[in-house]
Amino acid sequence: MAKRKERIKLPETEEGTVLFNVDPIIIKHHYEVDYIHSYAQDSPFFSGLAKKKLMGTRCTKCGYTYATPKVSCMMCGAEAEWIELPLVGRVHTWTTCYFGGQEFLKETPFNLALIEFDGADTLFMSRVIGVKEEDMRVGMKVKAQFLRNLKFKPTDVYFVPFKGDE
Ligand SMILES: [Zn+2]
Repeated sequence: MAKRKERIKLPETEEGTVLFNVDPIIIKHHYEVDYIHSYAQDSPFFSGLAKKKLMGTRCTKCGYTYATPKVSCMMCGAEAEWIELPLVGRVHTWTTCYFGGQEFLKETPFNLALIEFDGADTLFMSRVIGVKEEDMRVGMKVKAQFLRNLKFKPTDVYFVPFKGDE
């Protein structure tokens, strides 16, 4: 009696894929990953958001001040220390986005602005909400607002028009 040869093979599934195009082949492929990400030296910026504070950095040697924090000075290379930025700034420049990354698609169109602050040498990029595109102005005063339910992302802060002392 002949011995039955055992075949080695991977188990097959009945699932296929969605084929969008044949030449070249374009398929649907789901991609998902949980990523454990350390903010490391940038952590004070994010813990600042939890305290409704905007944290920048200032060079300990030359005094150059970063609204988008840098732990080492890009001008002289010295260490920078954390400082609290004002919550009111001005629109330095802006654009209205009619397309965006996946996270922002539902919010389009939205205003993306570079915000300038008194005492800071660099700008801070953020969204300005509550202003129509035609009403956006360079130099307009805006005030930081913070999400109540933090996600510890840069989008936890956004800006709204500042209407005097509030
Ligand atoms: Zn410096």
